[in-house]
Parts: sequence; structure tokens; C-alpha cells
Amino acid sequence: MRVDVVSIFPEYFTPLDLSLVGRARANGVLRLAVHDLRSWTHDVHRTVDDTPYGGGPGMVMRPEPWGDALDALAPAELTPAGLSPDGLAPGGSTLPRLLVPSPAGEPFTQAMAHELASESHLLFACGRYEGIDQRVLDHAATRMRVTEVSLGDYVLFGGEVAVLVILEAVTRLLPGVLGNAGSLDEESHTHGLLEAPMYTKPAAWRGHEVPEVLRSGDHGRIARWRRDEALARTATRRPDMFAALDPASLDKRDRAA
Ligand code: SAM
Repeated sequence: MRVDVVSIFPEYFTPLDLSLVGRARANGVLRLAVHDLRSWTHDVHRTVDDTPYGGGPGMVMRPEPWGDALDALAPAELTPAGLSPDGLAPGGSTLPRLLVPSPAGEPFTQAMAHELASESHLLFACGRYEGIDQRVLDHAATRMRVTEVSLGDYVLFGGEVAVLVILEAVTRLLPGVLGNAGSLDEESHTHGLLEAPMYTKPAAWRGHEVPEVLRSGDHGRIARWRRDEALARTATRRPDMFAALDPASLDKRDRAA
């Protein structure tokens, strides 16, 4: 997967050299480039912001550097006359999908992470101040798929931390990144449930014991226990998720529990 990130703080992305994301970059699964928005400014002060039309506090990111950055990273020659739903340009080349972090965006979920992991090219535009001039997004939407994405119902200083989160969630879904891909199938949010609690050695620690069933070696009982714990945890911690469970995904013993 190719990923381009544009930000006025490229240094924010140094952690992407570490751990499994770093390894995915080193072995070419993730081809990530971070770009400084100011390299697309043309004045001596490298200005990227200005006061908002209509007044009010704060500054807004000017459209010109963003327009030039997006032109460079998603070249106009890739732009189809009319954007097809799959984002394919004539000749089959794939346009990047533009993701713009915003507290007013679509909530980021594991389902969205899966969707993004199937893209071949993601382009992230990190806003700062009061955000990016709306015309940048409106213009981009005439030639590529644009998604404003929110990390949650709170406000950050900028889009950089949101991009770090999104990239980590997406990278671990790319083929070959996790040693044991089976763990993806069993974790929280994959089947609309939270994962059951996990334990490791020692069996007893500071007066707390690992549940007997997990030490029994009885795989059927262990699976049943984990399923019951996952259902109970989801019901108490995330009643919204529990209410949204598809009844067809529940077996007879789930319904009895
Ligand atoms: N004025 C904006 C509003 O009220 O919607 C908030 C701007 S915020 C201070 C600056 C930038 O931080 C945003 O453009 C966005 O890139 C990022 N940001 C802030 N909160 C975010 C969130 N919850 N999810 C994703 N990005 C966020």
C-alpha cells in the first residue's frame, strides 16, 4: 500500500519507523512518504494560514498550498472525466483516496480500517488551526474519493495524531504484517463484540488466579467461556454494540446466557 501524508509537522510521524509499522515500511508492505505542506508555499514566510472569512477566532489553512500539494500527489492526468465509484481513472490507474481528519468527520471504526486496508493508495491531509478551507475538499471531491474522518467526539490540535492512529489500525490489517493473522479474527470489534479478558503465566499472582477453565486444556469449554465473557463484557461496557448484534450471529447457548 502506498501512503502519502501532508502536514506542517512532518516530525510527528517519526514513530512510524518503530515496531511493526516500521517493519512493514522496511519490508515494503507499507510505502509511506511524509510531506511538508510548506514546501508548496511560495512566499518568504511560507504562509499556510489566514484569518477566517466572516470573522471569529483562530486561523484557517489557505487553499493554495493544499491545492498544489494534492495536484502533486494525485496528478491531474489521473483524473477521470467523471469519477467512477471505485475511483478508477481511464487506463485503470487508481486514484488515491483522500482522508481528512476532522472532528466533524465520519467516526473511525474497525470496519473503516478494513475498508482502507483494501485501498492501494491513501493520501492524508492533516489540518491545523481551525481546519482547512472547505474549497480544498470540495475541489478534491470532483476528482477523487474524499472522506473526512473523526477519531472521536473531542477536539485535537491537529490531524497528525489522528493519522498515526488510523495508519496503525490499517497497517496491522495488511497481509503479512501480523505474524499470526488468526489473532485478527478473534479480537475486539471484529464480530461486533469486545474480546474476553486475557491471562498469561503465572497461574496465581498477588492473590488473583487465572480462571480454572483456561488451565483445563478443554478447548470446547475454553471457547464457550471466552464467548460468554465477550458477550457479558459487551453487554455491560458497550450496550450500543450489544444492541446492534445480528441475532443470526448468536447461537442457542448465547441466547440462554
Ligand atoms: N474548528 C474545528 C472544529 O470545530 O470542527 C476544529 C479544528 S482542530 C483544532 C484542528 C485540526 O485537528 C482539525 O482540522 C483536524 O485535522 C484535527 N482534529 C481535531 N479533532 C479531531 C478529531 N476528533 N478527529 C480527527 N481529527 C481531529
